[in-house]
Amino acid sequence: MADVYKTCLFKIHNPSKRRRAMMLDCLRRNERAYWKVLDAVKSDAEDDAIMAKQVAEANDAFKIEFRERKQAKRSAESTKELHWKEQMQHLRELRRDKASVVRRKIDKLLQELPIPGSSSGGISIDALAQIKSTSELLVGGQEANWPKRRPIEDSYLDGLDAMCKAVTTEELTTAQDLINTKPRDTNTVRPMSIYRNDLLLARSTLLLADEKGRIFVWLNVHDSKSRFARKVHVKDMVNLRTGELLNKSSSAGELFPLECSNWHLEKFVRDGTMQSSKLIYRNNEFFVACTFKLSVEDVDTMNYLGVDRGIEMLAAWAVVTPDLTVLASGDAEGSTLRDYQRAAEERFKQTQARKGFSGMKWRAFGDHAIHTLANVIVAQALEHKCQVVLEDLTVITQGPHHKRTKGQRRSNFARMLNRAQYAKLEGFLEYKLTAVGLPTPVKVRAAFTSQGCNKCGHSHKDNRLDQATFKCVSCGHEDNADHNAAKNIASKRIYWQEVGPKVSGKKMQDKYKFDSWMKQRRNLET
Ligand SMILES: [Zn+2]
Repeated sequence: MADVYKTCLFKIHNPSKRRRAMMLDCLRRNERAYWKVLDAVKSDAEDDAIMAKQVAEANDAFKIEFRERKQAKRSAESTKELHWKEQMQHLRELRRDKASVVRRKIDKLLQELPIPGSSSGGISIDALAQIKSTSELLVGGQEANWPKRRPIEDSYLDGLDAMCKAVTTEELTTAQDLINTKPRDTNTVRPMSIYRNDLLLARSTLLLADEKGRIFVWLNVHDSKSRFARKVHVKDMVNLRTGELLNKSSSAGELFPLECSNWHLEKFVRDGTMQSSKLIYRNNEFFVACTFKLSVEDVDTMNYLGVDRGIEMLAAWAVVTPDLTVLASGDAEGSTLRDYQRAAEERFKQTQARKGFSGMKWRAFGDHAIHTLANVIVAQALEHKCQVVLEDLTVITQGPHHKRTKGQRRSNFARMLNRAQYAKLEGFLEYKLTAVGLPTPVKVRAAFTSQGCNKCGHSHKDNRLDQATFKCVSCGHEDNADHNAAKNIASKRIYWQEVGPKVSGKKMQDKYKFDSWMKQRRNLET
């Protein structure tokens, strides 16, 4: 059993004018409070980043001492090693203490603000998460800017005016900042995070059903002094999280009917446990995004699905049984992606422009293609109960001084998916496979997988008629080159499970090599 988190977006059904005003008022208060908190903890965030850096440095120093001791095969810890270990623990404690001081500071600040209980809990968690992620980025050597709120007014004209009057470079920079600052769209507002779903109506989100099976959400949107606050009776409604009947009154919020299909009900509400939620306002509509924890039954795999980065296709996949029978194969077409890539490269060459919007668009386009491919692979893997097998790119060395070993692939040569995209595919597959109860991908070295024949095991570089067609010089077997490679990648995992443990640590004898193994297996069958 694996725990999976999925978020479901429910639309609030046709809210009246009063209810819309009520929600917007709540969201705006929430946003103002959030920025107030962020302003208040900015210097604490800077302190935290410094402390996080100190922890990381102590950790690095400790690791060096530790590694030296392991290399020297000493069992006793050195004084230096002990020093850094203690230092690290001490600094970590200091950082934790400081974090709880900040937490109390935030809570105190929020107590005085006119916001509902659910909002204050969410802001505190969101702000602390912001501090933590900023520190992590800085420690990792990345840029991290403390979030800045956008002004409501368009500052362009003021900026232009300031630019004309500017004399010093500082004045010029300020003016440019003004010109470049995009005004805030007053129709959007920051979503409100709610992390509670217990029975206390003054701080929770609850999913409820009435006797007719209609689904409602209880949202805590009022503070005690809100002009919208009035008593609401929750009568004989089923709490969908606990299954218990709820009878309560409160003036801390409101019941809103949700648009919810049976599919949503089945998929999330019935099988999942609600964790947290967000009230969202977009394009004049209100939504509640609820995150559910779902338990997924583990699938026992019996077959193998190999994925090859295609030359003609974006990628090809094949399902192979343990006795090397091919159950299914297919590919994801990638010509649109390639056209787009080429056009983008061409544009880049001509204009020598910096990567701007087109780079962004291109990445989004590529991501979309990779997501679609991942979905196909997961669907196939689930249907045939497969362990997904990918090509291990970490073993491929690059650069002119590295000679490729025999049979090794040219790393990115003419491949539709480059290294980064393949890593992305792996990432997508990892969570998508976990979400359906399948194991995460395993990897094999791709050597010989594009020139070996999946029918007879004969491996030769002439086994290719052209880029797209595989034709075995020994048995005459013909196949699409990408499909053949995908079958080999899946087979190679089977091979490695059978042969791998026997040859670990020694130089591999020819009879244990992949192509010999393949030949033996295929000959045994015929
Ligand atoms: Zn052959």
